[in-house]
Amino acid sequence: MMDTTGNLHDRLRCLADNLWWTWHPEVIRIFTDLDPHLWREVDHNPIRFLNQMDIKDIEHRASELVLHSRINHTFRRLNEYLEMSETWGSIHCGNLCSRPVVYFSAEFGLHESLPIYSGGLGVLAGDHLKSASDLGIPLIGIGLLYHQGYFSQRLTEDGWQQEAYTDLNIHQLPLVPLLNPDGKPVVVRVDTRDSCLLARVWQLQVGRVRLLLLDSNVEGNSDEDRGLTSRLYGGNERTRIRQELLLGIGGARALQAMNVFPGVLHLNEGHSAFAILEEIRRAMESDGIPFDRARRRVSLYTVFTTHTPVEAGHDRFSQELVEEHLGVFREKLGLSLEAFMALGRVEPENPKEPFCMTVLALKNSRLANAVSAIHGEVSRRMWHSLWPNRPEVEVPIGHITNGVHVLSWIAPQMHRLFQTRLAYDWPNRMTHPDLWEKVFDIDDGELWETHQILKMRLINFVRRRLFQQAERLGDRDTIENIENILDPQILTIGSARRLTAYKRGDLILSNPKRLFPLITDSHKPIQIVFAGKAHPRDDEGKRILQRIIKQISNNTVRHRVVFVEDYDYNVARHLVQGVDLWLNTPRRPLEACGTSGQKVVLNGGLNLSILDGWWNEAYNGRNGFAIGFGGMHDDPEVQYQRDAEYLYGALEKEVIPLYYEVGENGIPHGWVQRVKESMRSLGWRFNADRMVRDYAQRFYLPAAGATSAQTA
Ligand SMILES: *Cc1c(COP(=O)(O)O)cnc(C)c1O
Repeated sequence: MMDTTGNLHDRLRCLADNLWWTWHPEVIRIFTDLDPHLWREVDHNPIRFLNQMDIKDIEHRASELVLHSRINHTFRRLNEYLEMSETWGSIHCGNLCSRPVVYFSAEFGLHESLPIYSGGLGVLAGDHLKSASDLGIPLIGIGLLYHQGYFSQRLTEDGWQQEAYTDLNIHQLPLVPLLNPDGKPVVVRVDTRDSCLLARVWQLQVGRVRLLLLDSNVEGNSDEDRGLTSRLYGGNERTRIRQELLLGIGGARALQAMNVFPGVLHLNEGHSAFAILEEIRRAMESDGIPFDRARRRVSLYTVFTTHTPVEAGHDRFSQELVEEHLGVFREKLGLSLEAFMALGRVEPENPKEPFCMTVLALKNSRLANAVSAIHGEVSRRMWHSLWPNRPEVEVPIGHITNGVHVLSWIAPQMHRLFQTRLAYDWPNRMTHPDLWEKVFDIDDGELWETHQILKMRLINFVRRRLFQQAERLGDRDTIENIENILDPQILTIGSARRLTAYKRGDLILSNPKRLFPLITDSHKPIQIVFAGKAHPRDDEGKRILQRIIKQISNNTVRHRVVFVEDYDYNVARHLVQGVDLWLNTPRRPLEACGTSGQKVVLNGGLNLSILDGWWNEAYNGRNGFAIGFGGMHDDPEVQYQRDAEYLYGALEKEVIPLYYEVGENGIPHGWVQRVKESMRSLGWRFNADRMVRDYAQRFYLPAAGATSAQTA
């Protein structure tokens, strides 16, 4: 229960302390109305905002703007949300109440003010928590608190990526220490051969869902270990295994310290798979059963999601590293080194094979899934050797296609349009196809105008960012011509993703002779906004980025093609809300799912993508555009050339003509029709509520049956 009698400042602080505010624009509006400049200055962090604003000033501004009733109303809505007893989860997932789902992930992307994510995997995990909260599914998230996050990206004058790291200020985040039932802060401990790793645990409230974050920066740890949770995907193999030890084993111990026992163990990617081992150890100890029985029991309530067909995305550790870090643990399980290594090997007796986290997870889970239909096929092929006696189609890896948490990604203007034209409570009904049939009743002009407003917002955002970038680099031309950069009347393409070879972020720039005339066409021009980070150690990715920068600084296209630095949640939100067209050009079939394109659907943008990941099952010929026909070639170079050809063809023959076919009222009716078809056919499927319900019905309920049977 929250204090409902407190003053304005306390109420705002309550709102700031639960990340529920991140998907409720009415809360954000309160902060921007109180002081729009300060809101931007504090990087959209409401706790920093409240710390910097005087209580008297808040009272004063609130009276001036008559904010009291809005604040009280929002505060009441949060309380109602937290106390609501009848939810989808309470109806369908009652048996999870005594033993929740425990969802492990190495990263969580919830908002730009909490930089503990690097990209798609993290944002997906964040969206999963938010939908689990909205649906009322009993779930606890477990992750790591990275003090320096991933990194901020700056470009040098010649387009080379530089990484900057800044320390988070924990006191400016809605974190509270996790307390055990005796009221003492929880500290978990994991012993390795020659050290002991300690971590404190922070708790963060995401609506109704709790997220626990382990933090190794505590007294008692060596300097090396204090820095263990500094950076996401930083350091070397050794850092990596120690982080994963903490996440999996430490995470499971944090739960034990609270007397919480998982009804379902959901491992989001293999990083956290050591949690399985800690669950086995606990079962052996508490029930006095041998390893094999404990292992079968834990497998019954463990589910696993694999996220990438790229080999390097699957962690593998040498026997030496495994023995150093898990030797003590292995002895507790009563296993020989060979038997232990076998848990993470495709060929158990192959002494040369390292220990693979994905193998550990796949061999010990009841159910496993890939994140799109095509990724399911690829994963079954990839891991066939684990089930050599079965035909490939019977490899037990299914798929649940990813979705996005719509209220976190939709623009408030579009949200309001749906409230008036579809149904006031449309968010509660978004998984019903019927709801989306009604988009055809929305007036073309009204939809188009709303979209144009969002595009202008994007352009203003991009100009602001480019202005800062130009000031830093002393780029006078950009500063003087800032108002000429981008034009809301022009077809605007967004392309933002991790810059790494298989994503082929530079495909559209591969043939300037083909592309530049499209950009500078006097009647039907296009413009492009790029963004994206390369992993700090991915030099090939950085070279792709540098090539993009070199190409777009060509004078002929300078003001129509731009790169926005430091792609993050905030940049992504502006982009997906404002673009006309979202471009995705991965090398098929390496895109596991891709979720950024799903974010444009309900904001009124269209997708132009290779038929890979989610788009392979989403495209129906009328709801966006495809690049090619879903072909593949053994030679990546040939495939690259072909796909570039298809891409230019699609732009020239389909996309650009449709966009510029406008009626007398200036509205491109054919284009708007396609936007509506995109909303109708995709809106109900590619959202995180549908995804989390699928997990609940297909994974959580059967797995929880296993744990409730045990307790009965
Ligand atoms: C949605 C999102 C992603 C995932 O996008 P892909 O489609 O996988 O490229 C990555 N980073 C950020 C910041 C996002 O918001």
